[in-house]
Amino acid sequence: MHKTMLVTGGGRGIGAAVAKAAARQGYAVCVNYLRNGQAAEALVDEIARAGGRAVAVQADVSRQDAAERLFRAVDETLGPLDVLVNNAGMLDSCRVEDMDEERLERIFRANVYSMFLCARQAVRRMSTRFGGRGGAIVNLSSVASRLGGLAGGSHYAATKGAIDSFTLALAKEVGAEGIRVNAVRPGLIQTDIHDVHGGQAAMETLARTTPLQRSGAPQEVAEAVLWLASPAASYVHGTVVDVAGGR
Ligand code: NAP
Repeated sequence: MHKTMLVTGGGRGIGAAVAKAAARQGYAVCVNYLRNGQAAEALVDEIARAGGRAVAVQADVSRQDAAERLFRAVDETLGPLDVLVNNAGMLDSCRVEDMDEERLERIFRANVYSMFLCARQAVRRMSTRFGGRGGAIVNLSSVASRLGGLAGGSHYAATKGAIDSFTLALAKEVGAEGIRVNAVRPGLIQTDIHDVHGGQAAMETLARTTPLQRSGAPQEVAEAVLWLASPAASYVHGTVVDVAGGR
C-alpha cells in the first residue's frame, strides 16, 4: 500500500524537492501549483520516468473553494491522504509606511489562510474523529518568524510567526485524533522566492554571514520535511525544526 502526500506549491523550489524526495520514498504525490503549470507537469513527468506516481493539480490554496477542489482531486486520483505539506507561500518587500490593506491581504492569504484552509480539508480526511486513519501535517514556516525577516519583510515575518503559532495550536487540537503536526523553519534557501529582493546573488551574500557560511539547497529542507512526515518521527509533535545553517 502506497502512502499519499499533497504538497501545496509543489511545482518549484522547496515544494518540488519535497515532492521528488517523497516519490523516491514511494509516496504517491499530488503536486499543487498556482500559475506555473509547466514546471509542475515537468516534475510529474520526471517522477513518472523514475517509476513513481504523481499528479499535478492547479489550485489557489489561499481560496476556500479552490482548496476544497484540490483535496477532492487528491481523493479521486490518488486515494486517502496520509501527509499534507503546507508549503505554498510568497515573499514580498515593502516598508510598513507604504503597506496597504490589499498588500497585507495578499500575503496573509497566500501564507496563512492557505495553511488553515488546507489543514481544514486534511483534518476532515485524516482525523480518527471523522473515521480517518490519521496522518501528518508539515507546515513551512521561516526563520523570519524568529529574526523578523529581511529589510521590508515585516509582513512576511508576521505571516511566518502566525504559522509557528498555528502549528502548536493545531498539534494540540488533533494530536489525540492520530494527526501529528510539525513545522520546518528554513533559512536562506536557493529558490526563485528571492527574486523580490535582489535574487540569488544578494541572497548568497547574506548567507555567507550565517554560521555555516552558505545558503541551503531545497533538498536539505526536503530531508527534514520527509523525516517529520515519517514514522521515524512518531513522537515528534507540535515542534518547529530549524533548517537554517545555524541562524
Ligand atoms: P518559490 O520557489 O517561490 O515557490 C513557491 C511555490 O508556491 C510555487 O510553486 C508557487 O506556485 C506556489 N504558490 C504560491 N502561492 C500559491 C497559492 N496561492 N496557491 C498555490 N500555490 C501557490 O518558494 P520556495 O522558496 O520554494 O518557498 C516554499 C516555502 O518555503 C514558502 O512557504 C516559503 O515562505 C518558505 N521558505 C522559503 C525560504 C527560502 O529561502 N527559499 C526560506 C524560508 C521559508 P507556482 O509555481 O504556480 O507559481
